[in-house]
Amino acid sequence: MLTRPDAAAEVHDRPFNNLLRRLNRADFALIAPYLAMTQAQPNDLLYNPGAAVETVYFPCGPGLVSYLVPNEDGRDVETILVGREGAVGGIVSQGYLPAYTRIVVKFGGPFVRLAIGKLDAAKTQSPSLRNVFARYADCMLAQMFQSTACNAIHSIEQRTAKWIISAMERTDGSDVVPLTHEQLATLLGVGRSYASRVIQTFKLEGVLQTRRGAIVVRDRDALKMRACLCNESVKNHFEDVLRGVYPTEEPGRGA
Ligand SMILES: [Zn+2]
Repeated sequence: MLTRPDAAAEVHDRPFNNLLRRLNRADFALIAPYLAMTQAQPNDLLYNPGAAVETVYFPCGPGLVSYLVPNEDGRDVETILVGREGAVGGIVSQGYLPAYTRIVVKFGGPFVRLAIGKLDAAKTQSPSLRNVFARYADCMLAQMFQSTACNAIHSIEQRTAKWIISAMERTDGSDVVPLTHEQLATLLGVGRSYASRVIQTFKLEGVLQTRRGAIVVRDRDALKMRACLCNESVKNHFEDVLRGVYPTEEPGRGA
């Protein structure tokens, strides 16, 4: 753990991605010269299935990406979300392998790019850096297991509430989540009118309000009551495996 003030300050100067901030100083120094900051917009496409994965993207701050699996009927189904607790592209394998899913930016923000070759070289040099990424891969796998179970047995209402909470955890205390009915429908794999009905119910219950292109959370506790516990299960696994890396709602934490 980093306890010395100078070490804390050094971490604070890093990009606001919890995985990058989790690395020890020597490990961060191995990749720091190759990190490039970029600004991503919602709906930016990072990878299509089959594309050669040559870059790792680390979402920072409120940045959020979604792994979508395209289906034969033309619909994309969302599997997991990755924010500043993680990274996408070539985390597990050595580089230049094809992407399996589509990876799209959900919430814009700063993203850090790193060439896979540089990350692989650093992993070869440092067992502790390799360990952090292996642990992250384990957490991501847990997220996928949970998502499979969630999509199979939890209601649209529970999944909607879960999704909004998981988005809020990255907005640092803001109650405004930039999400349209259309986007909600896509991520739930339902029609637009169904998604609108769910939002309407939550509005009538005083849980949410809507604004153009956004959802405003009026009652967090009520929203939590309506969510399934999938997010909590994943968070607990993160806490066991990579303590402090999963974002929480506490404003300013790690900011
Ligand atoms: Zn669930």
